[in-house]
Amino acid sequence: MPEGDTIHRAARKIQVALGGKTLDRADAPNPRSPIHSRDGELAGRTLERAEARGKHLLLHFSGDEVVHSHLGMNGRWYVRADGRLPMGKPWLLLTSGHAVASQSGGKILRLVSASRARNDPSLLQLGPDPLRPGYDPDEAAARILAYEPSAGIGEALNDQSLIAGVGNVIRIEACFLPGISPWRKVGDLTEEEARKLVDATSWVMETSMKRGSRPKQIYGRSNRPCPRCGGRVRAHGQGDDNRVTFWCEKCQR
Ligand SMILES: [Zn+2]
Repeated sequence: MPEGDTIHRAARKIQVALGGKTLDRADAPNPRSPIHSRDGELAGRTLERAEARGKHLLLHFSGDEVVHSHLGMNGRWYVRADGRLPMGKPWLLLTSGHAVASQSGGKILRLVSASRARNDPSLLQLGPDPLRPGYDPDEAAARILAYEPSAGIGEALNDQSLIAGVGNVIRIEACFLPGISPWRKVGDLTEEEARKLVDATSWVMETSMKRGSRPKQIYGRSNRPCPRCGGRVRAHGQGDDNRVTFWCEKCQR
């Protein structure tokens, strides 16, 4: 599932492939694409900047036009430098010379003005993003400590207003690293523990960017031994949307 690291990687690739270039093709051939009838508005524009904010991706084009995208659970970006086009009918297909970027599926794909993008509620409510310049870990810790005290920590971390870009794998690994149970209540966290959670979260995300894949110690390891203490890794649904949560019952307290 795409998390913030996935989207930052896609934004970097798109920036390298298409940044500063004028589009020679901008199509939305799939009838299910939310911008199927509006793709003509991108024709001939230049991509000024590709930017990730948490799990959102923004493509800033000349003429104050912005593509706002969110992949949700199942969408994907495809970026190539060799002119090879994606299979099927994508939701959005952008090319310039041999550079190709396309989105298929997703939760959000829309064309908006730059000012509308700036004031979009889904972007304004995002918490600090560890992969963006100017990231403030103190603010992230303060947001955790100010959150609904009765919420489970693992559940709270899904809320993008705490730390933007956190998804299921990142939140589970971020709880594991400092030995904090995802089932504890937010109101039970000390300031020091909140800061440890924040630092573990940014470590997982930054390491993923450096290595090209997320560091995973317990995600998906249900009923297998914990790599730290040998205890049993357990799995159980958590929160309103019942996301599967993995934790070590021995070394996460
Ligand atoms: Zn353990």
